[in-house]
Amino acid sequence: MKKSGTAKCDPQHPDGYVHRTSETFREILPAAISGKEFCRYGDPQESRPKPFFWHPADEQPFGDLQQAVINHQRQCPEIAATYSRHADRGPRPIEKAPEPQRNTPSEWSALVKEFALSNQADLVGITPTRLEYVYEGYEIPYPNLIMIGVAMDHATLATAPSTIDDTRSAVEVAQKYNKAARAVRYLSNYILAAGYHAKTFPGPMATALNMIPAAIQAGLGELGKHGSMINRQFGSSFRLSAIATDMPLDPDQPDIFGADDFCMNCQVCTKACPPNAIFPEKQTVRGTKKWYVDFDQCIPYFGETFACGICIAECPWSRPGVAPRLIDKLARRKSRLES
Ligand code: SF4
Ligand code: SF4
Repeated sequence: MKKSGTAKCDPQHPDGYVHRTSETFREILPAAISGKEFCRYGDPQESRPKPFFWHPADEQPFGDLQQAVINHQRQCPEIAATYSRHADRGPRPIEKAPEPQRNTPSEWSALVKEFALSNQADLVGITPTRLEYVYEGYEIPYPNLIMIGVAMDHATLATAPSTIDDTRSAVEVAQKYNKAARAVRYLSNYILAAGYHAKTFPGPMATALNMIPAAIQAGLGELGKHGSMINRQFGSSFRLSAIATDMPLDPDQPDIFGADDFCMNCQVCTKACPPNAIFPEKQTVRGTKKWYVDFDQCIPYFGETFACGICIAECPWSRPGVAPRLIDKLARRKSRLES
């Protein structure tokens, strides 16, 4: 049954609407290599990540699948409009001022955070650029990363999965990617005006920066069992973007508030994921034991549902007001165990 007031795909699309199912997306998975193999699942050797699904289609073996997922989404007018080049993704870069203004790293860090939080960002953290965050074949020429988080509207996200009759959750994802892009483009111009270099990384398409490990190091949250981050305020209901810069900045520290421990005994996302893509235990990937989602199982359903998102919507941390209560509960339990 159609819900009133919902965004909707267009069966009258001039190119002819083709509704792809998980099965038809599965047929486009490359025969030569699985996502797990490509990501070096099970490999005890530490290594940098290789350009993957959201990188330019000709740079990686999942390009045909990526294009099919994007084309499927773009048949829906509201999703297409939100991802179009006419959508507001922030200002163009200005010329860098020739002479850098002088402040201490801690002064610049405070100024940058204040600016970001007043200009579209809901979370901001700083970390030094590390090679392990940089995809193979890419470089990031600046020593600091400013990681930005933009909160999603949980009630809209919770309408996931999107269907041809109701694309609200997919449109919400697209709108928040645009907001995250605006946040880094405004901040980038602030940095350029101060006389420093700035390179933006707006999502969802990927280039040099593997955002999640950098955002964890910058204090935006912990990795959850569903493969996304969990923040102490917004749970998993937020999107990331980033800036690399040579502005002198003080790094933040990772924020370990108990989400990883909580995941050990929680099965909400594993049970909620329709294709059973979420491993219940940590797995070894490129030399690190961590929570891991099976790309080959997730992506066909992700494609069919125009971006899925069930796991991040269902995660208890994402429900408004719940994260602070969970943190209190975990802290009380910890102090009981220690006393
Ligand atoms: S739903 Fe539960 S197990 Fe999954 S990420 Fe959230 S807290 Fe962790
Ligand atoms: S996005 Fe959907 S299919 Fe993918 S892991 Fe999350 S719930 Fe499962």
